[in-house]
Amino acid sequence: MQKPDKLYIENNVVDFELTKKIIGRLDSVDIEYVEDYKKIGFDKKFVDRANEDKDSLALGQKKGEVLKSIGRMQDGQYYLFHEMDCRYDCEYCYLQYYFQTKVPVIFVNRCEVIDRMKEVMQLHPKTYFHVGEICDSLAFDDLTDFSLELIELIKDNENSTIEFRTKSTNIDNLLSIDNPPPNIIPSWTMSPQIISETLEHKTPNFSERLKAAKACQDKGYTVGIRIDPIIIYEDWGNGYTQMVDQIMTTLDPKQIDYISLGSIKLHKLLVDVIRKRFPKSELLLGEIFPGEDGKYRYLKFQRVEVYKKIMSWIREYDSSIKVELSIESEDIKELVFS
Ligand code: SF4
Repeated sequence: MQKPDKLYIENNVVDFELTKKIIGRLDSVDIEYVEDYKKIGFDKKFVDRANEDKDSLALGQKKGEVLKSIGRMQDGQYYLFHEMDCRYDCEYCYLQYYFQTKVPVIFVNRCEVIDRMKEVMQLHPKTYFHVGEICDSLAFDDLTDFSLELIELIKDNENSTIEFRTKSTNIDNLLSIDNPPPNIIPSWTMSPQIISETLEHKTPNFSERLKAAKACQDKGYTVGIRIDPIIIYEDWGNGYTQMVDQIMTTLDPKQIDYISLGSIKLHKLLVDVIRKRFPKSELLLGEIFPGEDGKYRYLKFQRVEVYKKIMSWIREYDSSIKVELSIESEDIKELVFS
């Protein structure tokens, strides 16, 4: 994968094994040592930081909890706080306002993540780990080999599942595993080609992601597909039909664990950031309105219509595939699935 332009290293992690490994893999990269990764880029204006710092990388130490569970997650579900922020730059990404530092960070005290995962696997009869809630799970995997560590940890533990959420094609480690265990699920966020090329900056485009998902299926993985966020643009119907056609004719539906659908939801602070960074963004042209929680979404009837249509296109290929809605209210779910 493309090397970062610059590597920041916190002084207190210089001697960590993972720090040395990453430096070794980024031969001749420009290195700057810093006291605290959280202050990187603070000499610049927010927008300049957001536009420029994603091409760098920081290595730091995660202090505090390395696994987190949030309200919408069921008992035994956690996301990993092993990296923070992302080298990609999707216009709708909530991380744009969520963290003030804009440089992606790899926390090199990874053994703490593994130890904590072992602990929670003892606590619950079933565990589900999301990798990629606050980062892209595979974007730096060629530098860290973290996927290999996680697969080793979980391969004999049938009651635990790890999902790698990604838009990346950085799958060499996944492909190096023979007979991958069924409880490892790489899942790709898919968007029509035009959206992937115009709103999801620096990401592999839709065709490249689909190729990566297919390669993983061929290797034996069951994959997840996330069509989220769905973006309503002028020709959205054609864009999404073609995308569903390509997914369903390229992939083996029997090796798709689920397809989840979700539509755009933008926190007010995120809308402000998008206005500043991408004033002509397609996202701001649609009819989005704040809901009860203050997040901007399409109107309910539009969401229901879009979900139903996309679901029907999927069902034309496979009537039994698991289709779910991501973060939607019960009344919307009822309207869509009834
Ligand atoms: S790939 Fe995911 S985490 Fe990365 S910028 Fe896009 S939406 Fe955000």
